[in-house]
Amino acid sequence: MASRQQQPLFILSEGNERTKGQAAQDSNIRAGKAVANAVRTTLGPKGMDKMLVGSSGDVVITNDGATILEEMDIEHPAAQMITEVAQTQEIEVGDGTTTAAVLAGELLSEAESLLDSDLHPTVIVEGYHEAARLAQEAIDEQVLDIDLDDEILEAVAESSMTGKGTGDVTAEVLAARVVEAVRQVADGEHVDREDVRIHTQTGAASSATELVDGVVLDEEPANANMPRRVDNGSVALLETKLDVRTSETDTEYSISSVDQLDAAIEAEDSELRGYAKTLSEADVDVVFCTKDIDDRVAGYLADAGILAFSNVSSKKSKALAKATGAKHLGTVADLDTDDLGTVESVSIETYGDDDVAFVDGGTGSNYVTLFVRGSTDHVIDELERALNDAIDVTIAALDNGGVVPGAGGTEVAIADYIRSHAASVEGRKQLAIEAFADAVDALPRTLAENTGMDSIDALVDLRGCYDAEGIAGIIVDGRSGEIADPVEEGVIDPAAVKREAIESATEAATMILRIDDVISSE
Ligand code: ADP
Ligand code: MG
Repeated sequence: MASRQQQPLFILSEGNERTKGQAAQDSNIRAGKAVANAVRTTLGPKGMDKMLVGSSGDVVITNDGATILEEMDIEHPAAQMITEVAQTQEIEVGDGTTTAAVLAGELLSEAESLLDSDLHPTVIVEGYHEAARLAQEAIDEQVLDIDLDDEILEAVAESSMTGKGTGDVTAEVLAARVVEAVRQVADGEHVDREDVRIHTQTGAASSATELVDGVVLDEEPANANMPRRVDNGSVALLETKLDVRTSETDTEYSISSVDQLDAAIEAEDSELRGYAKTLSEADVDVVFCTKDIDDRVAGYLADAGILAFSNVSSKKSKALAKATGAKHLGTVADLDTDDLGTVESVSIETYGDDDVAFVDGGTGSNYVTLFVRGSTDHVIDELERALNDAIDVTIAALDNGGVVPGAGGTEVAIADYIRSHAASVEGRKQLAIEAFADAVDALPRTLAENTGMDSIDALVDLRGCYDAEGIAGIIVDGRSGEIADPVEEGVIDPAAVKREAIESATEAATMILRIDDVISSE
């Protein structure tokens, strides 16, 4: 018994590292703040870009918070949680990633001071949750009571793109295309995000970016003699190989004479010709096949004047079903004309060495593609990210809870609302709630900072203007910034972006604060 009591209890194997209490918290907070700091200079229209160089020398140039954090290869677990904030934000609403990461970092930074003045982490966590709830109420109050017409949606789309590299085309022009695209597929206020796609193609200036109806495929026809354009055609969508099926089923020919060999070849050939015959008799003009098409079948299809594409990805094939109304067919044999779709046109264009197919389903087809051009891969990648954000915010505004003032306007209102409610909260929790408001202030302050304004003066002026007018933002225009009404200036964000930023930043910061013991294995 005695010897057992003296035995030290090892719950960690050798080589494990353990940090506890204050030391663990300090290290986590520092790591979280460092990550947030890495993206804060990119916030807003005057935000700078980051160049990220991967271990293999690949380069990404971007202003997009989520992309920066994703590419940074962050190892510290607490720092990774901030990266996840940006990812959640990206997945949930598609924009506001820098906002969310900066806010999370500020919440940690404020918590650090509170911990220094001996506030217990659980009190801070409770206060932050309470403040986050108040923030959501404040956002509800900020939702603008206006008609979401094209002008407003374009302002939303444009606000999300300013500061991002868009090549030789302005965010304003792109915003108009994005809104046009979203409107085209919208069913009232409901929009299916999948119905607006982006297809990139280098080799032209960004200003050549255009909106096309339907689906764009990186595919060439299965046979060079197929038509390169089909108008008003009927479409079959196949999910089956077009080749000799008998060979799959282990049928053995016992061939003992040349006649029998000829017969076998003839049987095979007739099967292959059968595909083209069936399709042609059903008046199919275009075939999209998700699997292989035997070269001989492709030849027969070409002879029948049918345009066919093989190995179409399942994603594109879903899009084609939507755009053309065609159903996916598992076999050609019992082809039902009801299962066919229609296209207004399919045309194949050549860009450098690439064939690109444009499939326009025509009227009634709810599917559009932004055909994005750019001179280089870097330009086109950043343009694609900007457009994805713009599509996301336009849909978020239309489909998911309206719009609020941008340019720090909503943040100043949130901070004000939280402070005015903090007064009635008893005890030390009040300090944490006020600290939350201070963290929210960091967003307009950072906007001002990135614009080259004196951040303290700007924040004071912003609050003063908000108190007097009930609405105020830090409007960045050209080289400088000024305090003005964001709605009048057309700087408008979706409410969903703000809601999600508050939620995910609070979640990450409080999760990090609750940790007081870090056990890591080597
Ligand atoms: P995020 O990744 O958080 O979306 P951005 O760099 O896109 O970061 O910056 C978004 C912020 O910039 C939003 O708060 C938006 O209101 C603001 N913003 C956009 N355009 C302007 C403008 N012209 N003046 C001031 N703020 C703007
Ligand atoms: Mg943005």
